[in-house]
Amino acid sequence: MFSTKTIELKSAAEIACLRRGAEILSQALAAVMAAVQPGTTTLELDRIAAAEFSRRKAKPAFLGYHGFPASLCVSLNDEIIHGIPSADRCIQAGDLVSLDLGCLFEGFYTDVAVTVGAGLVSPEAARLMTATREALVAGIAAMRPDGRLGDVSEAVQEHAEASGFSVVREFVGHGIGRALHEDPPVPNFGKAGTGPRLAPGLVLAIEPMVNVGGWEARTLEDGWTCVTKDGSLSAHFEHTVALTAQGPEVLTWHGRK
Ligand code: MG
Repeated sequence: MFSTKTIELKSAAEIACLRRGAEILSQALAAVMAAVQPGTTTLELDRIAAAEFSRRKAKPAFLGYHGFPASLCVSLNDEIIHGIPSADRCIQAGDLVSLDLGCLFEGFYTDVAVTVGAGLVSPEAARLMTATREALVAGIAAMRPDGRLGDVSEAVQEHAEASGFSVVREFVGHGIGRALHEDPPVPNFGKAGTGPRLAPGLVLAIEPMVNVGGWEARTLEDGWTCVTKDGSLSAHFEHTVALTAQGPEVLTWHGRK
């Protein structure tokens, strides 16, 4: 998935471009989130995402990517990521709904994910969502111009595990820009003070995937949907973040600014 060791730093003009794409992406995600409720099919959510991109002259990043058949990934409950939208998949009250969406605009990619509950969710599911969102925030806060990538990874892992949960190992965050997945890979586990040096101009998609049970994952027979091996619940939060001399700037947003 990652081509070489090259980490490409973005200019101010390129980050401005990413910011415009991220705005469109965030608005599209907000429209999808507003439609999540018991009785909605996951395909309806995909249609909303596609329509939002189309009317803003942006392209869905995931459609056709390695053959993925939709604009939006919708992963329910024990599904971690890469759930395929379907007219046969109806959201039930109490479901955990993970939405992952990517945008291509003016030659630059942005990527965002959020997990929301459909109606009232269990206390455990609510704790999982909170812990995963907080793990993402901890990772972003650890992104400093004089830091190392391992600072981000350790911050994410530490928060998730201190909450009693585990982080998925098989899938990681990534650099992002003219390609959807650029160097460096951004694991949600690791050691502070190790890994590539961070510098202004670095743009990362940081995306903790956190499980109630073990971290092990497996892929279903559809070749895409990734689920927890033990059937436990999973949540996923992601932001596209640019590092500036002043610190991290979160380009995407989750439903509201
Ligand atoms: Mg991503």
